[in-house]
Order: sequence, then structure tokens, then C-alpha cells
Amino acid sequence: HVRTPREVLALLREREVKAVDFRFMDFPGLWKHFTVPAEVLDENAFEDGIGFDGSSIRGWVAINESDMLLMPQPDTLFIDPFCKDITLAMLCNIQDPLTKEDYSRDPRNVARKAVNYMKSTGVADAAMFGPSLEFFVFDDVKFDQTPHSAFYYVDSGEGQWNTGRDERPNLGYKIPYKQGYFPCPPQDALHDLRSEMMLAMMQCGMTVESHHHEKASGGQCAINVRYDDLVAMADNVLKYKYVVKNVARRHGKAASFMPKPLFEDYGSGMHVHVSLWKDKGGDRVNLFSGSDYSGLSDTAMYALGGLLKHAPALCAITNPTTNSYKRLVPGYEAPVNLAYSQRNRSAAVRIPVYSSRAKSKRLEFRIPDGAANPYLAFAAMLMAMLDGVRNKTHPGEPLDKDIYDMPAEQLQNVPKTPCTLDEALTALERDHDFLLHGSVFTEDVIETWIDYKRRTEVSAIRVRPHPYEFALYFDS
Ligand code: GLN
Repeated sequence: HVRTPREVLALLREREVKAVDFRFMDFPGLWKHFTVPAEVLDENAFEDGIGFDGSSIRGWVAINESDMLLMPQPDTLFIDPFCKDITLAMLCNIQDPLTKEDYSRDPRNVARKAVNYMKSTGVADAAMFGPSLEFFVFDDVKFDQTPHSAFYYVDSGEGQWNTGRDERPNLGYKIPYKQGYFPCPPQDALHDLRSEMMLAMMQCGMTVESHHHEKASGGQCAINVRYDDLVAMADNVLKYKYVVKNVARRHGKAASFMPKPLFEDYGSGMHVHVSLWKDKGGDRVNLFSGSDYSGLSDTAMYALGGLLKHAPALCAITNPTTNSYKRLVPGYEAPVNLAYSQRNRSAAVRIPVYSSRAKSKRLEFRIPDGAANPYLAFAAMLMAMLDGVRNKTHPGEPLDKDIYDMPAEQLQNVPKTPCTLDEALTALERDHDFLLHGSVFTEDVIETWIDYKRRTEVSAIRVRPHPYEFALYFDS
């Protein structure tokens, strides 16, 4: 395992690396990169950083203060399996060149600060995150981005409009509506593609546990990776998405983590399994294991209380697109009610009961989706949990029923997820003190986030005629 600049340089020679690629994440949550010849990299680059223009990065500094530094992190290194020539990729932190301080709007920095804050409270020494991402693989996506077009459609190859499911002539074996969970090939036409994704993830240093077809009628996949520390796991989410998109692309397909690409079918979530751990006498102990509800500890119950209490504000970060709220509707195994349960997947928080072992006790926060910036999403979740633990926020009674089938009167008192991104942003505006402790999120980060989302997404969608408005109103 490589940890120091010197070890990176040794590896460069040993593996005959031709190019070094620097990766970092922009504010909303996409990976960016640029590349240098391998011989350019020396030990100084790790000390002094590599300069770049931060003003063109979404959500970052203004033109007049555009110089930024990338600080490559040796322990994040991997050989990129998608580059023709041997290329070593490293994730970077962002620094201000004048102050040499970590940049407050660098999402990775927010995540690192959240972990440091957690340690400083004495509540826990490690936060483990195990996200399970779902995504769709489409055969051919056409995305018309001309300025006055409000249209986005998936082309079947014959030019007709359709829902995105594969509508070409076929030999049968189509997955029936909502029955995509676990079929064997030939129904599961994406088996080999997912295996290739799984192997590429492993080449990138990730630990994969399984992969399978997901519940939607066709093209929905899940690859499950092993849990890890908060920052390492957020790094891995970016690697995961990179691998998925690139393997799909190699085969002339397009993968999307968009939360709800298809009307009236399942959406794609990023359920996040979490647990807090403490080092005790040389051992790492899971603080979530105890004798309360479903084998959880008091700490776990309070963490759960924190997640539920701050859920509407969290949504602005964990479900950060206008499309996210088209997934959070009843009937598609996505959560709508801010409740918890041991048994069912319709609650915002589920307590998985696969194993009674203390080490595997965890909460599954089912709200987030794959459009989230994982550094910000995990950091915000951790802050909500710590807030719950410190204030002993009790989560109330569990909802051990199928929430979708409960009579309306019974459901009335259960708080709900926000209906729109705008509602979630308003919730975040009102409720973000819990994020500010330890300067993990700054007021500037929260304000920039809310402003960016309102300006470039909420308002942009609001003023564009929607295709369905034509069906409803064209003949007015
Ligand atoms: N796809 C569902 C969601 O949007 C989850 C399905 C599942 O539980 N596997 O969250």
C-alpha cells in the first residue's frame, strides 16, 4: 500500500507509468482531471502542489482570485484501467496558494473536517459508510442541449419516443414491469457488463461484494462495495461512477445515476449504511450494537434521531437535484415518510437484520441518491448523527408496517420528505447550525450551495416548458 511521495515515484518507475492524472471534485459533485507526463512528477509536487485555474470550476472562486493548488494524495493512487497508456491517477485536496490553507469549498476538505470534528467530540473514532448505488444502463441516449430545448429523450434507434426501455426487435426474455430483481441471463442481459465493471473496480483497488440486476423493468443495476471510512468511501463512490460510466461507454451504452429517469418505474437510490466506531484497548468497537430496538445501542438510536430530525435539510445535500424528488414518491421502494423500521424498505431509515453480529449493526439511510456529492452527503449525515448523539435526540416509535399501505389518518402525523428541491433548500436555509460545528460546513459553503442550486437548477427548470405540459395544455 503506497503512502508516501517517494513510494509513488518508485511505483512510477516500477510499473513504467507514462502519465499521471490528477483528480478532484467540483462543488456540485463531478470528477475533474488533468494529466502530466510521468517524468514531470517529483517530490516537490506533493509539497508545493500543482497550480490550476479554479475560477472555471462550478461553484468555486471568482475570476479575480482564481489560482488554486492541487495537493495529490499518495494513498488514493490507482492505475486507471481506461487509459490506453499506463496512467497513474491520484485524488487531490485543494489549497489556497496564498494562505496554504485547505479550500473551504473543496468537498473532500469538508469530508475530512467532518471526520476530524467527530474525533474531537470524543463520540467516535471512525465513521463507516457503505453506500449502495443503483444506476440504469441505456442503449443509446440522445440529450438535446440546445439552449431553447426542454427536451431530453432516449432514442430506441428507430427515432421514436419511448421510455428508455429497450424497445428494439428482440428474442423475448424481456423483464416484466417492476420484476427486474435477480433474473438470470438471458433476461439479465447486462450480466457480463456488470462483471466487467466489478473487475475494473477491483483493479482500481475497491473491494466489491456482489452485483445484480435491480428491480426496474430493464437496465437497472447495482454493484455492492464493502464499507470503508467516510473519506475513503466517498473517494470510492467517485471511482465507482467513473468505472460504471466508462465500461458502459466501451460497449456503446450509457450509464446514468439520475435518480428517476423513467416515469412509473423504480428510481435509482444511494442507500447509505452507516455505523460509528470507537477504539477500545486495541480493538475497534461498533458503537451501534446494543440492546435497544433491533439490537441497536442508545448511541445508534440517538444518531437515528439526528438523521430523522434533520432529514429535510439533509435532503438538500443528499438529494440535490430537481429530479431527486420525482424518486421520493410512494410505490417505488423509495422513502417518503421520515420514519424508521427494522422490517421494511419504505421507511427513510431501515435497520438491516441480515446478521445479528455486533460488528454488522448499522443504520441504512435510504433517502440519498447517486446525484449527491458523496463528500458533502456523508459529511452532512455524520454531522446530523453527531448532533443526535450529543443532544440525545430520540427517534420516536418505529413504524413496523408497510407504510405505503397504512390508512391515511395513521400516516398524517408522520413527517414527510420534501416534495421539491426548493423545499429542501428552504429546510437547509432554516436548519443548518448542526453542520457548522467545527467549521465543517461554513456559512459560505451553505449559502453558495443554496444559491447555486436555486439559480442553475430550480429556476432553470421552472422557466422551461415541460414536455408533459404539451400533453396537458397544448390544446388549450
Ligand atoms: N430503487 C429503490 C430506491 O429508489 C430501492 C430498491 C431496493 O430497495 N433495492 O431507493
